[in-house]
Amino acid sequence: MSGADVELVLRSTRVVTPDGTRPAAVAVADGRIDAVLPYGTEVPPGARLEDFGDDVLLPGLVDTHVHVNDPGRTEWEGFFTATRAAAAGGITTLLDMPLNSLPPTTTVGHLRTKQQVAAPKAHIDTGFWGGAIPSNVKDLRPLYEAGVFGFKCFLSPSGVDEFPELDQEQLARSMAEIAGFGGLLIVHAEDPRHLDSAPQRGGPAYADFLASRPRDAENTAIEGLIAHARRLNARVHVLHLSSSDALPMIAAAKREGVRITVESCPHFLTLTAEEVPDGATEFKCCPPIREAANQDALWEGLADGTIDCIVSDHSPCTTELKTPDFASAWGGISSLQLGLPAIWTEARGRGHSLDDVARWMSAAPARLAGLTRKGAIEAGRDADFAVLAPDETFTVDPAELFHRNQVTAYAGKTLHGVVKSTWLRGERIAADGAVAGPTGRLLERNH
Ligand SMILES: [Zn+2]
Repeated sequence: MSGADVELVLRSTRVVTPDGTRPAAVAVADGRIDAVLPYGTEVPPGARLEDFGDDVLLPGLVDTHVHVNDPGRTEWEGFFTATRAAAAGGITTLLDMPLNSLPPTTTVGHLRTKQQVAAPKAHIDTGFWGGAIPSNVKDLRPLYEAGVFGFKCFLSPSGVDEFPELDQEQLARSMAEIAGFGGLLIVHAEDPRHLDSAPQRGGPAYADFLASRPRDAENTAIEGLIAHARRLNARVHVLHLSSSDALPMIAAAKREGVRITVESCPHFLTLTAEEVPDGATEFKCCPPIREAANQDALWEGLADGTIDCIVSDHSPCTTELKTPDFASAWGGISSLQLGLPAIWTEARGRGHSLDDVARWMSAAPARLAGLTRKGAIEAGRDADFAVLAPDETFTVDPAELFHRNQVTAYAGKTLHGVVKSTWLRGERIAADGAVAGPTGRLLERNH
């Protein structure tokens, strides 16, 4: 240890590091990881020891896909409630999506408004994606310089009027602009032509909803995205991949050197179309939760590295907007607090380790966003941790969740993995289901 500066030592027989899980003592100085040392290393005088025994010390999760909706649709969610739920779930860094808030994050002025709203409410470190819409090409570079981590766009209607989608020409123009300053474009990839030609029956039957959002909509949109990225040498990221049919072309593009990354979400990886009851629109999201065989293929995509990361796409709304009609209900899954246990439950059953989970849910999202201080337990990074009892189980009670509207697709599920505590820059911010007051900081790109 470097000595006098160390104020805290966190010890566990299972510390998940980039080199594997092992007994270790993590020395913390000034909110950062000072060193990762052998378990038995003597604690320096004046430093506090926290020994977690056999509970697992994970890097704090990094969730790069959260819709906080604040300001503007705060009856749906808000920075106080979303970040509190995240803290309880072991997440220590969150990036907010640019839409569903009013204003959307499409100009520097709008970004500043959102930062002002978020600052006093953030329980965890919080940053922002910008939005790319048809009218704001000129705003992209200033937004990037003001600290957004990249830009989100839609290729099909977003669900809110103030955030229109890009057509193929507009996509190419925005992508070229963003590539020109070395930025990242993250894309909701569903092709509107396939959605328009799919049967739109509406009603309570999940099978009808699934047929209205066919795999081809994703496949075609991703194919086009790869072509644009190749031609422009642009960096692109596929949001919330559901269609496993797209995996071979993504893998081929990656092999070829196209700069493309991919995320999927806990709901696609742990829930299946077969189990969604009719009328249960808490399971509605776009693209949709697909069949069990599709889910198996997504897990293969994770195992072979085609899918880089797992993030929540927490997209809540009020209970009233979850009408029992799949056509009119708001689309979005609320899962922020449950992502780690949901994924761990499925991952362990499929033979994956917590090293894999930490790579998918912490290291890879941090890398995606360029968050060099986050995402791993190694010297120099922020002292952000989740302490997990991986063999303990709990049954999801929506009333115990911290997001604003206690709607969730996981109600009644028994999950493995209880988050015992969460640590942000060396401070315990959540323990045994209780979350301390907001001490999160706002993050800007390269700061
Ligand atoms: Zn989303």
